[in-house]
Amino acid sequence: MKIGFIGLGNMGAPMAANLAAAGHEVMGFDTAAPCPDGVSTADSAAAAVKGADVVITMLPNGKILRAVADQIIPDMQPGAILCDCSTVDVDSARAVAAQANAAGLGSLDAPVSGGIGGAQAGTLTFMVGGSDADFATVQPLFDIMGQKAVHCGDAGAGQSAKICNNMILGVTMIATCEAFALADQLGLDRQKMFDVVSTSSGYSWSMNAYCPAPGVGPTSPADNDYKPGFAAELMLKDLNLSQDAAESSGAETPMGALARELYRQFVEEEDGRGRDFSAMLPRFTEKNLE
Ligand code: NAD
Repeated sequence: MKIGFIGLGNMGAPMAANLAAAGHEVMGFDTAAPCPDGVSTADSAAAAVKGADVVITMLPNGKILRAVADQIIPDMQPGAILCDCSTVDVDSARAVAAQANAAGLGSLDAPVSGGIGGAQAGTLTFMVGGSDADFATVQPLFDIMGQKAVHCGDAGAGQSAKICNNMILGVTMIATCEAFALADQLGLDRQKMFDVVSTSSGYSWSMNAYCPAPGVGPTSPADNDYKPGFAAELMLKDLNLSQDAAESSGAETPMGALARELYRQFVEEEDGRGRDFSAMLPRFTEKNLE
């Protein structure tokens, strides 16, 4: 397939490189980042999408996605599919899909889980909104970049799944960190706490796969001085998206609201910016020692 790829940052670059390594012809464009090996460099977004069967975007937010969509949709060939893999608000995902469909194009919102490691290894999970036909066309590309693609429903369903998943992640990470900090106060050994909780009803991905305590459980950003990984400000972005969606849809999400407020404080008022989102653990232990 001929693929246009826009947004070659931490996630986009390895995803595009994997598509090129699998034999696809990939034309890339980014306003700042260089194209990875195997990806040809276009000098504009419009040039990257000319003649492409599928255009993939991997951009910071919904505002930028909307601006890029305005630039590229007029230059995409009829019948091509615009597949956005960024994490953006549901309204932007639906608006861009409607704009693409009105121009005779297919569209998918296909945000990912799995982080930079998953992007490099080609083991991402895609959660996808859009038509059956568009999903079927792009599925072979999801299979290269990831290990699983779930077709969640119509336009916006992929972003809905993503923000619900990440709201759970933010809440469980905070719960795991505050429990470790409580264990410290009680004189309970962290390793013993992991041994119990990781095989008991308190287990979660945050505890079992991404343990926030250094030297405990599998290797995680905690073992690398909390270098991201998944930065606290990206978690704050996702919790803002889930709270905005909760507000506009009338859903009650009190734990999501509290998680958002704690990450907001951590990023905006404390030393959380640039640290992994699991650095909530040293944040709690420092507070407990104050
Ligand atoms: P990033 O900031 O590293 O990459 C974004 C890229 O978009 C940058 O290289 C930037 O120069 C480029 N860009 C910005 N405006 C542009 C424009 N108008 N035209 C072309 N390129 C433009 O971010 P990332 O970590 O790669 O994340 C990308 C998306 O994936 C975000 O929506 C993020 O929430 C989501 N995501 C990230 C992770 C992660 O662990 N990093 C995990 C899952 C999802």
